Amino acid sequence: MSARILMGKEFAAKIKESARLEVEELKKNYGVTPGLSVIIVGENPASQVYVRNKHKTCEELGIISEVVAMPEDTTKDALLAKIDELNADKNIHGILVQLPLPAAIKAHSEEILNRIDPLKDVDGFHPVNVGKLVIGSPALVPCTPAGCIEMLDLANIEIDGKRAVIIGRSNIVGKPLFHLLLARHATVTVCHTHTKNLPEIAREADILVAASGKPNLVTADMIRPGATVIDVGINRIAPKKLVGDVDFEAAKEIAGAITPVPGGVGLLTVAMLMKNVVKAAKLQLGE
Ligand code: NAD
Repeated sequence: MSARILMGKEFAAKIKESARLEVEELKKNYGVTPGLSVIIVGENPASQVYVRNKHKTCEELGIISEVVAMPEDTTKDALLAKIDELNADKNIHGILVQLPLPAAIKAHSEEILNRIDPLKDVDGFHPVNVGKLVIGSPALVPCTPAGCIEMLDLANIEIDGKRAVIIGRSNIVGKPLFHLLLARHATVTVCHTHTKNLPEIAREADILVAASGKPNLVTADMIRPGATVIDVGINRIAPKKLVGDVDFEAAKEIAGAITPVPGGVGLLTVAMLMKNVVKAAKLQLGE
């Protein structure tokens, strides 16, 4: 039997609608319009597409969106000064520095991201927010893993008590997702490049999340029949061809539910960013 295909568009639309309603409420109850400032340094074409997409989504939902475009030769100090200015700006509730930074300042990425006020850190990368996630207190959580949880919830796929296996241990996907699934009472295993017997571990999963950035790493024989498979991978294998980490055509014959690439869980990331901007505004209002 073919799997249920979890289409990102449908879920992203629901998340955005709920963010739009929250924006309306903030305006009505506090006279506050949430504001997002996205800093982009240099001319990276992919980053420009992502930033435009975020800007457009903010506008759709009634969120104030400001794009701060800084030249390729921006110094670390100039970027830190800009972040300080935005940290102090009462009309801006969320700040995001689009990565990757240009080569000349890339080595300072951590110091730069850590300068963002944790209450405005809508990417959820600041150590304060990472720490809060680990101890289970409310925090701004990275958007992609938060989107995975939201998708499971909206699809009515139970997490509590399930075996979850994540392939990938990055700071932006695998590790935060581990904590989010654990907080929802899943039993979670995180696999990585040094994991022995990956297929065997993957086959234990009720919920299998692939976030390795390796096309076709997850083959049908690694999937337990009926499992939910979330493919976070986005891999460009030809100029106009994107694929995930999962061999989708074969996997959909085994899985119970599966996300496609493109058009799957990736579409939830920007929607979750909008939720984070609203959440940041609420945190700053003391809600
Ligand atoms: P990363 O390169 O930082 O981390 C990849 C992880 O996968 C590492 O922890 C590594 O140990 C593990 N891994 C790699 N090859 C493996 C193998 N053969 N076996 C087991 N583990 C292996 O990548 P990332 O930033 O976490 O991104 C992962 C994928 O998700 C990429 O394709 C990326 O494009 C995609 N991504 C999508 C979104 C989105 O949907 N919006 C956001 C972030 C990342």
